[in-house]
Amino acid sequence: MTIDLGLDPDELATCVSCGLCLPHCPTFRVTGDEMRSPRGRIALMRAVETGAIEAGDEFVDAMDTCVQCRGCEPACPSSVPFGRLMTDTRVALAEQTSYQPWWRRIGYRTLGNHRLLLAGSSLLAVAQRLRLVPSRRLGLPARLPIRRPALRSSGCDVVLFTGCVMDAWMRDTHLAVQRVIESTGAGVTFLGAEGACCGALHDHAGLADQAHALAERVIAATPPDIPVLLDSAGCGAAMKDYGRLLGTRDAAAFSSRVLDVHEWLAADIDRLPEPTRVFDEPVAVQDACHLRHVQGAHDSVRTVLGRYVPIVELADDGLCCGAGGAYSVMQPELAAAIRERKVGFIDRSGARTVASANPGCAMHLQAAGLCVRHPLEIVDAAMRGLPLD
Ligand code: SF4
Ligand code: SF4
Repeated sequence: MTIDLGLDPDELATCVSCGLCLPHCPTFRVTGDEMRSPRGRIALMRAVETGAIEAGDEFVDAMDTCVQCRGCEPACPSSVPFGRLMTDTRVALAEQTSYQPWWRRIGYRTLGNHRLLLAGSSLLAVAQRLRLVPSRRLGLPARLPIRRPALRSSGCDVVLFTGCVMDAWMRDTHLAVQRVIESTGAGVTFLGAEGACCGALHDHAGLADQAHALAERVIAATPPDIPVLLDSAGCGAAMKDYGRLLGTRDAAAFSSRVLDVHEWLAADIDRLPEPTRVFDEPVAVQDACHLRHVQGAHDSVRTVLGRYVPIVELADDGLCCGAGGAYSVMQPELAAAIRERKVGFIDRSGARTVASANPGCAMHLQAAGLCVRHPLEIVDAAMRGLPLD
């Protein structure tokens, strides 16, 4: 099948095939397959773009198996914008082929209907209690919430963005993050159902129209001027990119207000109260790819968390854990193989608890039996004198 990827030839030409990115690519590390490396994928994009090959199954598989972790970008001496090339390739596939069938498009669309998502999630939780859902195989949290505690605004100094699936499954995390923000004296407000989904998963899937509509909706639902804080690395990376996604000045201005919550806290760390308790037991920090490789905000997690708990660094140079948004559902075998490497590094670190600032990574690692907490849940526990796990 011949398709027009619409990629910038100058951006494609920046890859000099040096291979320095290969050790930083999780799919190459677990398969050793050039076609599952950044260099191989770029070569395939070039070949399709020049008409040397068709966009057949081998091409689609090479693109589809990319986790979109963007670990290849900081490793690249030529600054190849791999994330953008991959996103644009998937948009072309979604628009010109059957890459995203109707049933998946409906599934993605459901994420944008927050009331429906919450109701569906509660039903799923009931089915889970009745043992009608293979939770382990689907990588679901062991006990989905049937009901959720209410989120109550405490002022209008900052927005805390709560997201779609994270709000349905991890509202307790948002409440812990809210308490930590409030401990600085700031009031927290929320966006409600109209601003619930950032569109990151839609963007990664190549569903540009849905991603655009959700981004516009989030911007419209957000109060002007105040910082927009995120406790999900994937959502934060997407919202910092709204300027590029929508190509408008308003969107760029909005993106400039978006901060990972650790960045906001670390920028003025003395606003946080002095620790009344510091845990003795060390915690391993798992850097979410979209916090480390995309936002470059991973050190802020250490600045904040390090006040309350000794931190252990993993010796894997920030290699992806294999969660990748919907990747662990779409590519379960590769996702599990990538995770196995991460679990090995965590085991060797000696830490019993892992801190991860991304809900997808947390769920993916929890499904492997690890104790994973959001960094600010650990901070909140320390502030309230509660145990670590
Ligand atoms: S993407 Fe960058 S690091 Fe990888 S082969 Fe191309 S130039 Fe080298
Ligand atoms: S984004 Fe991640 S999985 Fe995809 S090619 Fe780059 S390093 Fe590999």
